[in-house]
Amino acid sequence: PGNQLPYDPEKKTIVILGSGWGATSLLKSLDTTEYNVVVISPKNYFLFTPLLPSVAVGTLSQKSILQPTRYVARHKTRAVTVIEAEGKKVDPIHKTVTFEDDSEIQGTVHQTTIPYDYLVYAVGAEVQTFGIPGVQEKACFMKELADAENMQRRFKDCIESAAFPGQDSTEIDRLLHIVVVGGGPTGIEVSGEIHDFLEDDLRTWYPELAGRIRISLVEALPSVLPMFSKQLIEYTESTFKESKIEILTKTMVKEVKDKSVVLQMPDKSIQDVPCGMVVWAGGNKNRKITQDLMAQFPSVQTKRGLTVDDHLRMAGAEGIFAIGDCTSTSYAPTAQVASQQGAYLARVFTQLGKKENLERQLISLDQAITTASGEDKAKIAEEIESTQSQIAKIKIRPFHYSHQGSLAYIGSDKAIADLPFANGNIASGGVATFLFWRSAYLSTLFSLRNRTLVANDWLITKIFGRDLSRD
Ligand code: FAD
Ligand code: NAD
Repeated sequence: PGNQLPYDPEKKTIVILGSGWGATSLLKSLDTTEYNVVVISPKNYFLFTPLLPSVAVGTLSQKSILQPTRYVARHKTRAVTVIEAEGKKVDPIHKTVTFEDDSEIQGTVHQTTIPYDYLVYAVGAEVQTFGIPGVQEKACFMKELADAENMQRRFKDCIESAAFPGQDSTEIDRLLHIVVVGGGPTGIEVSGEIHDFLEDDLRTWYPELAGRIRISLVEALPSVLPMFSKQLIEYTESTFKESKIEILTKTMVKEVKDKSVVLQMPDKSIQDVPCGMVVWAGGNKNRKITQDLMAQFPSVQTKRGLTVDDHLRMAGAEGIFAIGDCTSTSYAPTAQVASQQGAYLARVFTQLGKKENLERQLISLDQAITTASGEDKAKIAEEIESTQSQIAKIKIRPFHYSHQGSLAYIGSDKAIADLPFANGNIASGGVATFLFWRSAYLSTLFSLRNRTLVANDWLITKIFGRDLSRD
């Protein structure tokens, strides 16, 4: 009784945990002819993270950067089962995954365990807070869709509270001070987007307040954007200076309070800086399910993320592939890497499917030859030889990453790009790069539907400005 998975006992089952960059890229390219495929993720959609900061200030609407996973799965040769649930436990010995429906509305059955032949582990990472007091409870993050909505609500709330009649002047300055923590690409892009909101819209609607809005970007290291070339770091710093976004390097956040942020300054002094909102973009850390999985292989899983071999097979386990931000490799935790890994695994599964088919054929030929005689026996022997040589020819190559370059939006209709070319890198920054940034992301969006929605949002924002209402 109830919903049953479409199960073909002849086929192997691939369980994909996650519906982000790695999982969606795999699903898109995967030939499901030879497999039962099950996708399990607490989000029943793919989120196009590069445009999340644009959603946070209302340049884009949230639905424009989402792609329901069922849309991605619907054109497959065999039905793909999509389950909205959170993976809770992987048992690599018995090859099972236990998952749970964590949503507000649940049926009587909300936890179950299913077996896999292959597990593609692509659960991504969560926000690293380093256990710094107040970060988890009081700061806004920029990782999930809900974070962008939360930041937008908080930002608009700060402005409306500052506009309250008779508001105290010091309190206005506090409410209008936005602190962004983390000088990685997320922190830079969020600061740039907030600045655009201020210049394009808030100056018109809150002329008396706009000049008092301050954005500070706090970074513990000596420089922002360490993955970009020196020239582009300097370009970003000078653009931020023009935009009046203050960059505080060698400055570390020690605590986030209700109405302030505690900073350790470069000279090691401590300052309690009043602010209305803190946006935390401090990097990634492993999810609990990943830590639990790693803990089952303490001798080989010793790094910060899952250790995989050059074929993306998880060290120590059989039948588990791991991709994206949950792994620890020489590559940066980016969408570019995760999506190339997903596409690579789709090719691996095609090869494995072919190999397993031939192996099955070989088993039946081996059985047939025992009872055959004369000419038939010779024919089967020939077929066995040919099948064996076909199997031997199937070579699965290791994963190879091809870096397409780094791009980031820095506000004021400017972007930076470090692009690899034959004779080294080309570094460019400015308005032309911004147009390139837009077209690159537009073409990377997974579907025509998303491209249309995003292009339409950009046009609407250009004509009518961003929406100021707070939900
Ligand atoms: P994700 O895309 O995070 O996907 C993880 C999936 O697993 C999600 O669907 C999640 O719901 C699901 N999941 C979580 N827990 C469980 C569980 N217990 N069981 C099952 N499923 C689970 N990279 C770039 O290359 N270029 C960019 O411009 C860029 N911009 C970015 C902007 C922002 C604001 C952010 C936050 C990141 C950006 N990145 C960018 C980084 C990029 O988003 C990540 O590297 C990428 O998402 C990693 O892909 P992934 O598949 O490993 O994880
Ligand atoms: P990140 O790890 O790149 O940067 C986090 C920064 O926060 C670090 O520089 C760190 O020094 C700083 N930090 C941490 N704790 C701090 C503290 N207490 N006080 C002050 N500073 C502190 O994180 P991210 O920007 O979220 O990026 C995560 C990954 O996603 C990276 O691999 C990045 O390349 C990728 N990404 C790429 C793009 C893009 O290509 N446009 C955009 C966003 C994210």
